[in-house]
Amino acid sequence: MQILLTSSRSISAQQQLHAFFITASIIFICCLCGILTRPVTYLAYLWPANAVLLGLFLRYNHLKVSGGWLGAFTGYMLADLVTGNHFQLTFILTLSNLINVIVSLFFIRYWKLNYRNYNQGFTFLYLFTICALGGCLASALFAVSTIPYMPNTFMSTQRLGIDFGMWWAGEIVNCITILPLILFLPTTIEEVRKNFKQISLRKLDYTKFLPLLAILISVSFTHVFVGPGALLYPLAALIWAALSYPIFTVAIINSIVCLVTYHSLTDFYLLDSSNAYLTTTISVRIGLCMLGFAPLILCIITSNRRELYKKVLRLANYDSLTNTLNRRHFFEQGEKYLLDQKNNSISLIMFDLDHFKKMNDQYGHHVGDLLLQHFSQFVQDNIRTNELFARVGGEEFLILIMNTTLQESHAIAERIRLKAELTPMRLNQDELLFITTSIGITHHSLPTEVSLQNMINQADQALYQSKTLGRNRISIAS
Ligand code: GH3
Ligand code: MG
Ligand code: MG
Repeated sequence: MQILLTSSRSISAQQQLHAFFITASIIFICCLCGILTRPVTYLAYLWPANAVLLGLFLRYNHLKVSGGWLGAFTGYMLADLVTGNHFQLTFILTLSNLINVIVSLFFIRYWKLNYRNYNQGFTFLYLFTICALGGCLASALFAVSTIPYMPNTFMSTQRLGIDFGMWWAGEIVNCITILPLILFLPTTIEEVRKNFKQISLRKLDYTKFLPLLAILISVSFTHVFVGPGALLYPLAALIWAALSYPIFTVAIINSIVCLVTYHSLTDFYLLDSSNAYLTTTISVRIGLCMLGFAPLILCIITSNRRELYKKVLRLANYDSLTNTLNRRHFFEQGEKYLLDQKNNSISLIMFDLDHFKKMNDQYGHHVGDLLLQHFSQFVQDNIRTNELFARVGGEEFLILIMNTTLQESHAIAERIRLKAELTPMRLNQDELLFITTSIGITHHSLPTEVSLQNMINQADQALYQSKTLGRNRISIAS
């Protein structure tokens, strides 16, 4: 029971009522959508209710309470009863649907699947396998062992195998088309922005729409050149989309593609003969399920690799303590700035914290590290994003500024010097640590024969002058 209900100690009657109404209305609407897609006497073309219910219970714990279950039961029953189904049959159909969700939840909990990390490792693969081979299978087994024996039934004991296959294959298609939409649904504004950033209209980068266009063309073809090959028409475009778009966008595209392709194929086989429809639908549904599953897995793998690449790139280019550029990346970028024809001048400011060794000796290395972070932070707050800021030695930093006069660079350096002097770091409640920095500046008009390394040497000499003149001051290279 614990598996199926949220383990909160006391859920108020109001919360139960809220869960009841939410699930009852959602499931009722989903069932009506399903009932509307039932071809004559067969099972529905799309039955979203079970996958929606599972998704809701997985994502929204506050719905997975007795009220939520009761709401789901009511939603299933009401939808069938108001559309004219008989009570006994409706009851058994409802149980069959609920068994899908119950068994899936049971195994998800039993194997302690961390489904919230659906985009990590094999999680989504396991989740889908549990649903397909757990919930959907159990539901199909229950359905064929009860429904054919009900009064007013649409199943017959003569073709149990086909009915079983139809039910199971239908459920797995529902699962692959609907469940990802709910599981991957962005919840924070940040997630929404990330999902639509790649296809935002603002930047008007038409190339980003090409995978979408390819999807539209390939899916339209499924209705122009109708036939069994239609199952594969959208494959290449789906792969392209999976490599280009974020997971939620891919889930939406995937669902639409599966449904439209399914429509084309069922039309084709229904027109052929209803017998052909029955015998081929199971195969078409399994095929569709695989068609929908592959791009999702590909998208998850690609986005994981992209994230990993970003992390590796960051580690390769940035100093992990201060979050500033490291020496290698600073040189790489700085050389580019020097050669860029658009730039007409360059200033290099070099900082060295004063008496830093004393700080380390007195307060420990850890406090020294915090001071380095403290200093880097307010420098970063005081420069623009296109200015390069790097940590090039223990307590030595560089800033490379383009297209400013020497006076402006001096003003920036002075602002940072003053800020360092006047912004102490709070060590504890009654202790503040003050640091100062000595600065050397060099400035050149572009193009120049002077290399970046030579500029650093010049700034270093100016810095040395600041140190010898008493520290906490700025010197300009002659
Ligand atoms: P000066 O005013 O002449 O620059 O004196 P200073 O003590 O700052 O200069 P010095 O070059 O003698 O010492 C620099 C110190 O910086 C020595 C080293 O312990 C410390 N240091 C270098 N890298 C790190 C680091 O990553 N973390 C910490 N906490 N200290 C560092
Ligand atoms: Mg130093
Ligand atoms: Mg120093």
